[in-house]
Amino acid sequence: MLFEPLQIGPVRTKNRFFQVPHCTGMGTLYPHHTAKLREMKAEGGWGVVCTELCGIDPHTDVSPFSFEKIWSDDDIPGLQLMVNAVHRHGALAGIELVHEGSAASNRLSRYRAQSASARPTRGMPTQVRALDRDDILEVRQSHRRAALRAKRAGFDIIYVYASHTLSILTDFLSERVNRRDDDYGGALENRARLLKEVLSDTKDAVGDQCAVALRFGVDEVLGKDGYGWQDDGRRVVEMLADVPDLWDVNVNNLDFDMMTSRFTDEGYQEPFTSFVKGVTDKPVVGVGRYTSPDRMVSLIKKGVLDLIGAARPSIADPFLPNKIRDGRIEDIRECIGCNMCLSMQYAGGPIRCTQNPTIGEEWRRNWHPEKIQRRKSDARVLVVGGGPAGLEAALALGKRGYEVALAEARDVLGGRVTQESQLPGLRAWSRVSDYRTYQLSQMQSVQTFLESDMQVEDVLVGEFGDIVIATGSKWQRNGIGRCLRQAFDGCTHEAVYTPDSVFAGAVIEGPIVIYDDESYYMGGVIAEKLSKEGHAVTLMTPEAEVSGMLRFTGELQSVQTRMHELDVRIASNRKLVSFDGSSVTSACVYSGRLHVQEAASLVVICLREPNDRLYKDLLNRKSDWPGLGVRSVTLIGDCYAPGTIAEAIYAGHRFAREFQEVQDQNEDFRLERIVLEESSLQQRCTTVPE
Ligand code: ADP
Ligand code: SF4
Repeated sequence: MLFEPLQIGPVRTKNRFFQVPHCTGMGTLYPHHTAKLREMKAEGGWGVVCTELCGIDPHTDVSPFSFEKIWSDDDIPGLQLMVNAVHRHGALAGIELVHEGSAASNRLSRYRAQSASARPTRGMPTQVRALDRDDILEVRQSHRRAALRAKRAGFDIIYVYASHTLSILTDFLSERVNRRDDDYGGALENRARLLKEVLSDTKDAVGDQCAVALRFGVDEVLGKDGYGWQDDGRRVVEMLADVPDLWDVNVNNLDFDMMTSRFTDEGYQEPFTSFVKGVTDKPVVGVGRYTSPDRMVSLIKKGVLDLIGAARPSIADPFLPNKIRDGRIEDIRECIGCNMCLSMQYAGGPIRCTQNPTIGEEWRRNWHPEKIQRRKSDARVLVVGGGPAGLEAALALGKRGYEVALAEARDVLGGRVTQESQLPGLRAWSRVSDYRTYQLSQMQSVQTFLESDMQVEDVLVGEFGDIVIATGSKWQRNGIGRCLRQAFDGCTHEAVYTPDSVFAGAVIEGPIVIYDDESYYMGGVIAEKLSKEGHAVTLMTPEAEVSGMLRFTGELQSVQTRMHELDVRIASNRKLVSFDGSSVTSACVYSGRLHVQEAASLVVICLREPNDRLYKDLLNRKSDWPGLGVRSVTLIGDCYAPGTIAEAIYAGHRFAREFQEVQDQNEDFRLERIVLEESSLQQRCTTVPE
């Protein structure tokens, strides 16, 4: 069923796997990177592969971030690289055209952001321009020109985009934004006018050859503050039912659309989008972090969707469709729903993924997600530490054909992933170790030794020429981190705990203060765990908000809400001063004013210290190495420098890829450079009608 073709307007997809548009943080600035990344999806079996958001003109300029644009004919060749790459594997190429309305930063173009009615610009102390009739006409013409360019570039599916509060079309649609009193405001028929016009302009311009898709957020997920799938969202689908060739449906709320596994399960969008199939006869694609083939089949059988949409599952495993086709279900590298991929879009920089270390590196480092170069020698490699870094290093070295011994001190593999996935909401993270542990169990070339706490004498036995140390890190208890430069008074008190104590099952007495100077997820999930165990918990942070770094994963609001729901007391803008076993003293980060609070226990989340004792012991025995045949000892992952799980996986993978291959690591990646030609110096942005 998943491999049946489907007609979408004038084009036909070979199967039901649809990589919906998703950001990569690369776009127009990195055309070869982008083309190769998308090509991997097509090679991996996705029937449709789309671009990310593609701005139609300089009114949609998201600088300083990079994304696609089709402002002029000069943008066509870059996009054509992607189209051709996707077509090479028999997939259809889709492009998501957008006018971002009030969401555009326009820091490069310096055009004033536009919207239906006056409102503040995002992130700047300015207001948008409320469009007049001439401006509206120009938006329509510009979208039409962009669609024609996209058709010339060879795209098969051309999107009209009205979702994620990132489109001028939803600015007009939403009563929350649109306060106009002309025929583009007021009744829904009026608020939907621009959407209808752009849709019909696009069909008229390119509909002969290209399918026209409407990506529509059917619900704002804002309760009574926004439109919902039962009212205006549904009425828009009814109004336009058979106009687009394809409905790509999700929610008009980017944070919810991309919600993590901490807050949502697979299929979390179905309650919002499943009505659409009952309203239209056109094909429907939708998303929900689908990785289970059974679930996919049932969605089609039950008439919820015609095409299985995926962004994150296709990032974590570009070869997911082929693996399903070939019955290799255990080989699927399932998305864990952590949003590391999204975070780079917000933080600025090319995409990365916890599960798939090759994403974004397909062109730059020539890394294929499923293929790896054969071994260069008969070298035997010892990997010490079975956390994400060690697991991935052993797996990738094993795939290369090297003989590997993986030694892990505990009686279970997975390192921090195994521990952290026990915390509330992080269960899906165990997929990082489950996938790798299973793969290793199928490999002849890798032998795993549990309960093997390696000391220097165990390593220097003359059996291994190359040694990889992936022994991780441990949480510090002195409070030194982003805010504190020195240990706080009382840090050696026995009632001071760290995340490691929580993993070890320490009995922590309440009332509890958690001092979170990391500002990532750990403070919030430990607060959730201890609060659910019935303790009075205060989450103290030097920042203004709890878990501030989660603004990059789109979880910031959900975390604050969760803490309030659990009655976790928030003490923000406070730095730790001292703890005496019965109270915590903290100081306001601005005024220095002291505050004393009752606490029987203090959980400190600050820096981690690399577990590099074994490495140092080995260095002290360097003179013995030649006699024992030791050529290299390499630190990877958290014991090199503590970081994210994604960084540890990447480090393990990179070590294995480069082992006996790369001489100069600084020269081992390619850059896309701008080549200046006389003609390019003359170029202008073509916004005039053709
Ligand atoms: P990373 O994220 O870098 O992979 P982790 O902390 O998740 O780091 O994993 C490190 C793993 O190394 C843990 O499972 C730990 O038990 C293991 N380990 C630490 N020291 C030794 C050692 N001397 N011998 C074997 N395993 C070790
Ligand atoms: Fe999934 Fe996390 Fe990878 Fe994103 S980074 S695709 S959420 S595993």
